[in-house]
Amino acid sequence: MGERFRVVLIGGSGVGKSAITIMFLQGTFISEYDPTLEETYRKTITINGKCCLLDILDTAGQERYHTLESHYVRNGDGFIIVYSITSKATFSNVRKLYDLVLRVKDSDSFPTVILGNKNDLEEERDVTIEEGKELSTELGCPFFETSAKENHNIAESFTALVINLRKKLEQEGL
Ligand code: GDP
Ligand code: MG
Repeated sequence: MGERFRVVLIGGSGVGKSAITIMFLQGTFISEYDPTLEETYRKTITINGKCCLLDILDTAGQERYHTLESHYVRNGDGFIIVYSITSKATFSNVRKLYDLVLRVKDSDSFPTVILGNKNDLEEERDVTIEEGKELSTELGCPFFETSAKENHNIAESFTALVINLRKKLEQEGL
């Protein structure tokens, strides 16, 4: 039995979770994606010569449905928390979402990658790259600015998450 991880994308509405997912899966950019559609996808990737099956849940939850959100979190092995660099409000959400992950997992760290998406929209930027880096360093999570539109750092983000997931498995095996 090979490796298999459940990856959950969370973040504010409209930050690009679906666009990131579809770019990673299909290599295409979808400019209009049903914001209420929630779907699980499956993809096999090879990282460091080792194959790994990802079940990817692209969530469409609203922040107010806290019980739903903790349900996603309970089932995830690893998380991708997405904000948009064009929206401070979605950035403010990141800490809350990671806190939720830690609370539900009853842990002080958990494999999670933080993404500042839409970094092709420089003229609409509302969150600096330093703010993103600073928060991610504080939370102890890998950080990337991404563009689903330009396929920038998308595969790298999933790779970083898998590397963290493997690290956790190794630590638990000790
Ligand atoms: P979700 O609600 O988080 O799933 O967000 P979507 O993936 O549906 O994206 C919301 C909107 O932002 C759509 O119109 C996307 O085309 C657009 N979008 C997503 N990612 C990017 C990106 O990297 N750059 C730009 N310019 N637009 C993006
Ligand atoms: Mg979506």
